[in-house]
Amino acid sequence: MFGGDPTGLAAAELLTRFGRSATIYDELPNLGGTARFGIPDYHLPKDVLRYEAARIEGMGVEAISRTKFGRDVRLDDLRADYDAMLIATGAKDVPKSDTPGSDLKGVYDGYKSLEDVFIDGVDKYLNHPKYELGKRILVTRGGDCARTALRMTRGEVTMVYRKT
Ligand SMILES: Cc1cc2nc3c(=O)[nH]c(=O)nc-3n(C[C@H](O)[C@H](O)[C@H](O)COP(=O)(O)OP(=O)(O)OC[C@H]3O[C@@H](n4cnc5c(N)ncnc54)[C@H](O)[C@@H]3O)c2cc1C
Repeated sequence: MFGGDPTGLAAAELLTRFGRSATIYDELPNLGGTARFGIPDYHLPKDVLRYEAARIEGMGVEAISRTKFGRDVRLDDLRADYDAMLIATGAKDVPKSDTPGSDLKGVYDGYKSLEDVFIDGVDKYLNHPKYELGKRILVTRGGDCARTALRMTRGEVTMVYRKT
C-alpha cells in the first residue's frame, strides 16, 4: 500500500482479516493521512485516529514511514516483493487556483495552512505561529478553514460559499 491514509488503512485491515499480509509505505512520520494532518482536532479527535492506526498495526500490518513513493522507492524496486500494490496517495496535490490575485501577499492555500497548524499539534503551532491573519479574514469555501481562523484570531471571519 502506498499511503497510510483512510484508503490504505482500510485496505490493509481487510487484507489482513482475509489472511494476507500487508505493508504500508507513507512519506509522513505517522499513519492517518489527511484525516490526521489536515482535518482539525475539534472535527476529528486524533486519539480516535491514533487508536485505529495502532489497532490496525496491532493486527500485523507493517508500516514504513518517511518513505516517498516515486522518490525513495519505485514500483520496479518492489515488484518482486509483493503480489499486488495499491496506490492510495490521495488528492492533496491539487492544481493551484488560477483566480486572479491568488498569489498576492496574505492569500493562503487552505489545505496547506490547515496542515501547517495541525501537523504537529495545535499547541506546538501556537508557540511558533506561521501566519499573520489579522482580524478580518475572508475564506472561500472551507468550513474548517473558517472555524480554525476564528479560533486562532477571535476576529471577524466571512465565508464565501456556493452551497446554502
Ligand atoms: C479540512 C478537511 C476536512 C475534511 N472533512 C471531512 C469529513 O468531515 N468527512 C469526510 O469523510 N472527509 C473529510 N475530508 C476528506 C478526507 O480527509 C479525505 O477524503 C480522505 O482523507 C481521503 O483519503 P485518502 O485515503 O484518499 O488519502 P489521504 O488521506 O489524502 O492520504 C494520502 C496519503 O498518502 C501519502 N502520500 C502521498 N503521496 C505519497 C508518496 N508519493 N509516497 C508515499 N506516501 C504518499 C500521504 O502522506 C497521505 O498519508 C476532509 C478533508 C479536509 C482537507
